[in-house]
Amino acid sequence: MTAIPVTANIMQNAKDTTATVTASTAPILECRMVRKLFPTRDSVITAVEPISFTMEPTELVSIVGPSGCGKSTLLHIVGGLTQPTSGEVLIDGRPVSEPGADRGMVFQAYTLFPWLSVRQNVMFGPKIRKVKKSEREATADHFLDAVGLHGFKDHYPKQLSGGMRQRVAIARALANNPRILLMDEPFGALDAQTRAIMQELVLDIRKRERTTMLFITHDIDEAVFLSDRVFVMTARPGKLKAEIPVPFGMDRNDALRVAPEFLAIRKQVYELLHAEGKAVVDAEIKSLEH
Ligand code: ADP
Ligand code: MG
Repeated sequence: MTAIPVTANIMQNAKDTTATVTASTAPILECRMVRKLFPTRDSVITAVEPISFTMEPTELVSIVGPSGCGKSTLLHIVGGLTQPTSGEVLIDGRPVSEPGADRGMVFQAYTLFPWLSVRQNVMFGPKIRKVKKSEREATADHFLDAVGLHGFKDHYPKQLSGGMRQRVAIARALANNPRILLMDEPFGALDAQTRAIMQELVLDIRKRERTTMLFITHDIDEAVFLSDRVFVMTARPGKLKAEIPVPFGMDRNDALRVAPEFLAIRKQVYELLHAEGKAVVDAEIKSLEH
């Protein structure tokens, strides 16, 4: 298998290679030539070069790229937290201009309300949307079960470990019944063992809830283990360098991590990413020399 240049028709590629994608469905997410500049006092930082891609229902796409290449900026634009300088993002064909319940977000930093119990945190979104009490309680309980926190509904965030807090954050995002879940290095602060368990949780939720997910990570193993496709971004200004199909379907378990087919894709992503990481270091050294 080879990396697909992003100039190729990536949707066509996804349909050909990804078992979970059906050809007749309309895209949930479409990024059209999304570009972002940040003006500073004496110059302009190009954070994201024009990026275009689409995602189909139930797909899980990961984006990997060197630090500072614009991954979070891109995700914030999809989330409606940041406006693109040019280009547009469409959810179900409708342009995004602000955050909305159709996009659930989970960040690396723990973002639960400390004064609310676990259950109240998960019920918060449905409450804002005026869902009636019995219904939002049932929704919260369903998703707390799904993330394995049945016995912790009345706990408060400070009583939970980092991994458990991220479980609540995932349940909270899912309780709004989003069309897509946007995750920005959600397990970046967790130890390796907890992280592996959380990855299995993501696979489990995806299989049960059929949630579409756009997942940002530094971790190549995580990206390949979870995804139908891995996008590799270039060093800043970030653009899509390659798209790697990961044709293992939704039914995955821990044994996949050491399978030769997995390791071959992992190596491919590593090599693409390593070249970008080296470009960042070389540029830093050059800037210090002058
Ligand atoms: P990543 O998530 O890939 O590490 P980011 O999207 O956070 O990268 O940042 C991309 C680039 O844009 C970085 O150089 C960062 O410093 C810059 N940047 C991000 N947000 C802002 C901002 N609000 N103002 C100015 N520059 C920013
Ligand atoms: Mg980031």
